[in-house]
Amino acid sequence: MADASAECNIKVLCRFRPLNQSEIIRGDKFIPLFQGDDTVSIAGKSYVFDRVFPTNTTQEQVYNTCAKQIVKDVLGGYNGTIFAYGQTSSGKTHTMEGKLHDPHGMGIIPRIAEDIFNHIFAMDENLEFHIKVSYFEIYMDKIRDLLDVTKTNLAVHEDKNRVPYVKGCTERFVSSPEEVMDVIDEGKANRHVAVTNMNEHSSRSHSIFLINIKQEHVETEQKLCGKLYLVDLAGSEKVSKTGAEGAVLDEAKNINKSLSSLGNVISALAEGTKTHVPYRDSKMTRILQDSLGGNCRTTMFICCSPSSYNDQETKSTLMFGQRAKTIRNTASVNLELTAEQWKKKYEKEKEKNRMMKETVQRLESELNRWINGELCPGAVPLECLIPKEDSLGRLPREESSSSGLSRLPREDSSSSIVIRISEEERQKYEEEIRKLYKQLDDKLLVSSRGDSEKVSSELGRLQMESDIAKAEVKEVLQALEELAVNYDEKSQEVEDKSLQNKLLAEELAKKMAHLMTIEAELSRLQEVSSHQRKRIAEVLNGLMRDLSEFSAIVGNKDIKLPMEITGAIEEEFTVARLYISKIKSEVKSMVKRCRQLENLQMECHRKMEETGRELSSCQLLISQHEAKIHSLTDYMQNIELKNRQLEDNYDSLSEELAKLHAQGKFMESHRETHHKQLGRLRDDINEKQKIIDDLTESVLARELQTLHNLRKLFVQDLTTRVKRHSEMEADDSGGCSHQKQKISFLENNLDQLTKVHKQLVRDNADLRCELPKLEKRLRSTAERVRALEGALKEAKEGAMKDRRRYQQEVESIKDVMRAKNPLRRQHAAQIGNDTRRSSPDITSNNVAYGHTHTPSLDQTGLAKSALH
Ligand code: ADP
Ligand code: MG
Repeated sequence: MADASAECNIKVLCRFRPLNQSEIIRGDKFIPLFQGDDTVSIAGKSYVFDRVFPTNTTQEQVYNTCAKQIVKDVLGGYNGTIFAYGQTSSGKTHTMEGKLHDPHGMGIIPRIAEDIFNHIFAMDENLEFHIKVSYFEIYMDKIRDLLDVTKTNLAVHEDKNRVPYVKGCTERFVSSPEEVMDVIDEGKANRHVAVTNMNEHSSRSHSIFLINIKQEHVETEQKLCGKLYLVDLAGSEKVSKTGAEGAVLDEAKNINKSLSSLGNVISALAEGTKTHVPYRDSKMTRILQDSLGGNCRTTMFICCSPSSYNDQETKSTLMFGQRAKTIRNTASVNLELTAEQWKKKYEKEKEKNRMMKETVQRLESELNRWINGELCPGAVPLECLIPKEDSLGRLPREESSSSGLSRLPREDSSSSIVIRISEEERQKYEEEIRKLYKQLDDKLLVSSRGDSEKVSSELGRLQMESDIAKAEVKEVLQALEELAVNYDEKSQEVEDKSLQNKLLAEELAKKMAHLMTIEAELSRLQEVSSHQRKRIAEVLNGLMRDLSEFSAIVGNKDIKLPMEITGAIEEEFTVARLYISKIKSEVKSMVKRCRQLENLQMECHRKMEETGRELSSCQLLISQHEAKIHSLTDYMQNIELKNRQLEDNYDSLSEELAKLHAQGKFMESHRETHHKQLGRLRDDINEKQKIIDDLTESVLARELQTLHNLRKLFVQDLTTRVKRHSEMEADDSGGCSHQKQKISFLENNLDQLTKVHKQLVRDNADLRCELPKLEKRLRSTAERVRALEGALKEAKEGAMKDRRRYQQEVESIKDVMRAKNPLRRQHAAQIGNDTRRSSPDITSNNVAYGHTHTPSLDQTGLAKSALH
């Protein structure tokens, strides 16, 4: 696979940035002193590098001097790596990227992108190129794909040539510098999106831009491939602060494992004596394994601050660069052989094999000769012995791998190593060998000849075995390689799992504790529940007993009760509940009955009280009636007496009547005369009335006549007086006027009097008209009075009748009471006795009963008083 290889040191370039604004303002001193192209001295100590760039170096100068060559190398099939190392803000990103789209300010990466395509266009047109780019960052030892933000923890695997690579990382095919720039822009944008503080993030993470170029010659089918890693490392200050002088960087490991691992790897490689280089300590050192002491042309930019403020960091950065400078890489072209080339190689190997076989044969014949007792010193050349040793299983690969040499020349060494020894040494060795042969001969001679055959067969067997072993070793090696790959994965997995395990164990412990508490709780609860169960059973038992007693009291024998309760509580409970419900209904009905009875009793009480009251009133009445009867009997006796007297009278009167009867006829005639006289008298009255009426009329007429006459007279008098007055007027007019006045006054009076008279006459006539009407009214009133008197009489008679009826009723009630009383008194006593036993309320009722029959004395007293 590899043809041309060349050993070379890592190129270390030192670049100082100018003082920045804040450093100038702070008044920091500019400390580096540049001497020539390759030396810088700080505080009197000089550091020599492949090149030192002072502060005023342009991006273009940097690129042309160092990076341009790398593009040619990569296109020639070599691997290449450019690192930028230095403390934060020392100019790493400025050097690697710069201002991406500024022709003057752009850094190495954009210039490489452009240059690659310029070269390709100038190359043989029979060459076909495939250019892929990847962009990822390593942060806290995790590989994050910057072209696919979902890939946050990519793994490092090894390819069939045991070259590590990032597995699964996005690869973009590009065909122009613009496309490369687009990918860079995309990656940078993703990086910005994923983090909050970009400055801090970039100072703690490595960003790696990988360009993978494959080319194939269309005609010869020869293939070349080159990988170019462009690495902007994390800020180195973390490492330097822990004193990264090749010591184990424990603390820094925690901050940035990758960078401390890089320091360790470089220290190990620089010391050169260590057999183990800790590439596997971090993902970055694994990815860049080839760039550090492997098949790669590596350039490292050491970026420094010129400020006195950062002198310590600057010094340690420069020391790091010095160490890195001693690392030797063996770069070789990654050439894939064509069929023709493979064929040639095969022929060569076949020839080698043939020669070896010949040597073996020769050796065997020589051995036979030895065995046969011949002495043949120096017959076999020393060179021929080496393959024989080789065939016994000593693998040159193992030796070289431990010395840190590249793999490809190692593979070649098996066929082309030539050991050169000085003449003196040669003679010495030969002498020794001869001695050894002699000894061997002696020994062999002593041993029997028969052994020789055995030995030869043994040798053949051993040869065969060695061949088999070789094949096996090859297989084992292959398996080992696979195992190593697996081991990496598994160890990672194991780490994760152990972490998970720990967490789980913690959780388990917590859960166990929790479980214990829960179990304790459970047992406590169980205890409590059993205790409660027992108690429930007891209570139930008691309840059942009570219930059975109760049932006995109630007198219900329907329900059978289990007398002892021990087992299933639920069943018993249901039975008890059933029982209780039955009893409840029973009790309910009883209570209802009780209430009914009580009501009935109340009613009876009330009725009895009423009848008692009635009785007393009846007794009173009876006594009254008795008194009345007494008085009536007296009265009747009187009446009888009177009757007798009246009878006597009657007799006497009848006698008289008889006498009178005789006189009757006389009386009748008497009456007739009376009647006649009466008629006459009436006629007289009527006549007299008529006369009176006439008289009154005539009186009135007369009065009127007299009044009329008087008036006439008066008028005559007046006229005479007026005449006289008028005569006198001639003499005395004054006296006359006075007279006249008087006359008129009198005339007025007269008029008024006549008016009054007429009114009186009219009133009289009216009164006379009204007189019959009034008489009629008088008569009707008298009739009404008579009718009312009749009605009164009737009412009185009705009342008398009612009274009589009432008396009859009372009599009958009295009879009934007399019949009832003795019976009822017996009853009341009985109930009273019963109730007194059952309830105190009823006893009070009983007291009320006592009133009804005990105060008979009082009642008789009352009756007596009523009688009185
Ligand atoms: P780092 O990546 O090491 O943290 P940067 O590359 O971001 O540092 O540089 C920090 C600052 O210094 C940036 O503003 C950059 O432009 C400036 N700078 C770095 N190197 C140079 C230089 N050689 N010439 C001019 N400016 C520089
Ligand atoms: Mg940076």
